[in-house]
Parts: sequence; C-alpha cells; structure tokens
Amino acid sequence: MTTPPPAPRRKKGWMTLKVTRVEDETWDTKTFYLEDSVENGCPFDYIAGQYLTLRFDKIAEKAVARSYTMSSSPNQPGFSALTIKRVEGGLVSNWMCDNLKVGDEVKALGPIGKFCYDPAKFQPHLIMLGAGSGVTPFVSMVREYADKLGQEGAPREMTLLVAYRSKLDLICWPDLVELNKIPGVNIITTLTREDAQSEGFLHGRPDDAMFKKVLEGTYQNSSYMTCGPEAMMDQFVEFLKAQDVPHEHIHLESFGN
Ligand SMILES: Cc1cc2nc3c(=O)[nH]c(=O)nc-3n(C[C@H](O)[C@H](O)[C@H](O)COP(=O)(O)OP(=O)(O)OC[C@H]3O[C@@H](n4cnc5c(N)ncnc54)[C@H](O)[C@@H]3O)c2cc1C
Repeated sequence: MTTPPPAPRRKKGWMTLKVTRVEDETWDTKTFYLEDSVENGCPFDYIAGQYLTLRFDKIAEKAVARSYTMSSSPNQPGFSALTIKRVEGGLVSNWMCDNLKVGDEVKALGPIGKFCYDPAKFQPHLIMLGAGSGVTPFVSMVREYADKLGQEGAPREMTLLVAYRSKLDLICWPDLVELNKIPGVNIITTLTREDAQSEGFLHGRPDDAMFKKVLEGTYQNSSYMTCGPEAMMDQFVEFLKAQDVPHEHIHLESFGN
C-alpha cells in the first residue's frame, strides 16, 4: 500500500513574513525574499503559479491589499520570493520598491490560485506567453520543472515566449539564461522597443506571425498559458482558436486586481 503524500502546509489567515533579501532585477523591478517572521523558512507549501495577497495597513488612509505571484519555485526551499514591477502612478508597487527593506515585515495571505501546471489535465508540451511582470508565474514554473522534464508530474517540454520593452527590462534573466540550456526548455525573448536580433532576441510585439513562427507544429500536443496585457492575451487566444486548439488547453491569468 502506498502512503498518500502529506497535506500541503498552510497557515490560516494572515501570516507575518519577514523580508530577508531584496534584489534589483531591473531599473523598475525588485525581488523580495520572504520568510516566516519567527521560525524562518517558508511557512507554507505552494505550487508554481500561485500568488500571495499582501496587505499594507499604514501606507494609505485605508488598508490596501495587492496580489503578487511567487517568482521563486517550490523547489527553492527556505523562502518564497515576489518580483514586483513598478506601475506608473501605482501605490503599492512603488511603495514596495521605494521602502520595503530587509528586516521589515509584511502581512500575507495564501498561497492562492489555480494558474498552475496540472499533470492530470495538461498536454505534454507546456507553452507559456508572458510580458512584463506577467512573466513571474512562468519564471516559477521554469524554475520548478526545467530539470524534471519528462518525469512524472512534469511536462515533457517547455516553451516560454516572453516580451519586454528592451534589454534593460529583462526580469530574472541570469536564471532564465541558465535554465534555457537544459534540453527541452526553450525560452524565446522578444524586445518590443529595441532591435537586438543580432544577439538572439526577436523584435516586436508578439503577434500572429511570431506565434506561428514559434509555435508551428505544437498545436496538437500542447497546453498554453498566458499572462500579461489583455490585448496580448486576447490575440493569443484568438490565434490558438484559429489553429483549432481546444479551449480547455488554454489558460489565462489576469494581473488586473
Ligand atoms: C493574481 C495576481 C498576481 C499578480 N502578480 C504580480 C507580480 O508577480 N508582480 C507584479 O509586479 N504585479 C503583480 N500583480 C499586479 C499587482 O497586484 C498590482 O496590481 C500592481 O502592483 C499595481 O498595484 P499598485 O498599487 O502599484 O497600483 P494601483 O495604485 O492599484 O494603480 C494601478 C493603476 O491605476 C492607476 N490609478 C490608481 N489610482 C487611480 C485613480 N484614482 N484614477 C485613475 N487611475 C488610477 C495607477 O496610475 C496605475 O496605473 C498581480 C496581480 C494579480 C491579480
């Protein structure tokens, strides 16, 4: 008789997490490493793609809450990491990037969310399309599955198409470059406002021509996930529908709170 896997560790209600490390990703994006404020380590189990809701009681007249997806992966033990990109005029993203420092505490709820790879339902090839901060769930998934491809519970192959404005906007880049060397992982980056094709980047916004070039031949054996601007996600879904990809193989996450 096989023993069932242990139930995932969860904390009921609002947790207090301590910031243990802050890293600059780009000029407008930082990664915050969080641990339990008392016992250290990550006090909950999560699946790549899930998010935390953070609550701030003192940065505005009323308490404010925003959700942030883990960019770390469950196989990086001891912490969870959130990668926050400043939104122009935005309250919480700018406050965090300007003020939140090592030793500070945040209130967090979670993990929450179903925008996750599901081995029981997904096709063997996992294809992800992200842009800007919408890359965070996919960074987590690549970190989680890249060295398990083909094993039980993991996809057989992964393709990530990600769009940034320029080379100054590459989030979690050193890790993604390393992970891209693993056979079966294919990370393709397009720059919308800089032409760096000589360095291996695509150029321009993701559009039908780019989807066709990158995805040709994948439509029958793939599941698709996308997170980013609504217009990009809509275009992707229309494109996939036109290729007769069944809607149950297409998964979307919106970052609009
Ligand atoms: C499930 C989920 C996961 C997410 N994961 C991430 C992640 O991993 N990383 C990440 O960076 N973000 C993520 N987000 C987005 C994040 O939750 C916030 O929406 C984002 O940080 C902006 O919050 P803010 O408080 O800075 O901006 P807000 O203050 O909410 O402002 C948002 C926009 O509205 C405008 N605005 C604000 N007030 C007004 C007003 N009175 N009139 C007109 N316009 C106004 C602002 O100028 C800004 O453009 C996620 C969202 C969801 C739902």
